[in-house]
Amino acid sequence: MGSEPEPEGVAADATDDPPAVELDGVTKRYGDTAAVDDVSLRVREGEFFTLVGPSGCGKTTTLRLIAGFEEPTAGTVRFGGESVAGVPPEDRDVGVVFQNYALFPHMTVGENVGYGLNFADPPEGLSRDERVAELLELVDLPDAADRDPESLSGGQQQRVAMARALAPGPDLLLLDEPMSALDARLRERLRMQVRRIQSELGITTVYVTHDQEEALAISDRVAVMRDGTPEQIAPPRTVYREPSSRFVAEFVGDNNVFAGRLVDVEGDGESDDAPRTAGVDVGGETLRVAVGEANDTGVAPDDRLTFCVRPEYLRIGEGESRLAATVESAEFLGETTRVTLDWGGRDLVVRTRDPLSGEVVVGFDPEDAHVIGIDEE
Ligand code: ATP
Repeated sequence: MGSEPEPEGVAADATDDPPAVELDGVTKRYGDTAAVDDVSLRVREGEFFTLVGPSGCGKTTTLRLIAGFEEPTAGTVRFGGESVAGVPPEDRDVGVVFQNYALFPHMTVGENVGYGLNFADPPEGLSRDERVAELLELVDLPDAADRDPESLSGGQQQRVAMARALAPGPDLLLLDEPMSALDARLRERLRMQVRRIQSELGITTVYVTHDQEEALAISDRVAVMRDGTPEQIAPPRTVYREPSSRFVAEFVGDNNVFAGRLVDVEGDGESDDAPRTAGVDVGGETLRVAVGEANDTGVAPDDRLTFCVRPEYLRIGEGESRLAATVESAEFLGETTRVTLDWGGRDLVVRTRDPLSGEVVVGFDPEDAHVIGIDEE
């Protein structure tokens, strides 16, 4: 799998401009619990940045620290290089959209959007009505101004909530699970609309979701969080193809994670014809995985390697490493069938077009495996 030279969370930015949002060693404790634990990350100007992770990993608390609803126990939040410590939410120039649409039921859609202008003048010298019309146009509800919010679908209500948050022209948009109350189909539609609106405005956006598929689909970069700390911060493709830990490998999409002892290293990695590969003993079978060039992987005999192979890279009857397995179960998903195999007591997941049953041999090539970690014995 190819690697892209991509920046991680606190890597140097391409420009000298300060990041739109920066968390520098930020911790938030509630009693003995560190909801957010020493988090450092940077969100660039105009970026769509997503915090994703299982329930309780600190996503919402991180967002609330950025919004100013919470102050950190330790560390600093900066906007454009300036600390925002002690600056209340209403003075931070942020628009926030929550999970429950929280529209005012006694106001029309137009009044709801206009409500966002009670505390700030419309930008660009527009009148209040002009600004409301402009925003309803932006969220694709140009004729909804006089409607009752409750007459709208959940997805439409969330777009109104977004229009309301955007009305004062904030520098930063914060979205906390805005789609979690919607059904799957609506979520897919709305996420495309949210991304389009964000791109049109070029507004820096921090998005919270527990849905890894949504995170991959919508973001420029993703922070995969666990226990109050980002475990990997990278573009969606990198998080998917080159997970930095077993947790990320298993949280983001289906995966087959293997661990075993290094038995040999072959090839010099100098040319494509001789990729450097390691033989790894997994349950008595030697599986071969690419380990890159000699000077960037310090593999040594008896190291333990953890690596993963995505289901779509496990091919039936092909590949340098072959695994003889038995079909355990299959789920028909339409486009593909997700098949669970038993390989010597371990579960493997493959995706196939054609149904499988009984005994099968699946395989993969060294470069289809991604090494997650090397532990010295
Ligand atoms: P979810 O997806 O379930 O909303 P999350 O990733 O957004 O979860 P947070 O809501 O940030 O997680 O919570 C992180 C941890 O901090 C959890 O253990 C939670 O119980 C705890 N926590 C959050 N807010 C408070 C609070 N006000 N008082 C005490 N504990 C809190």
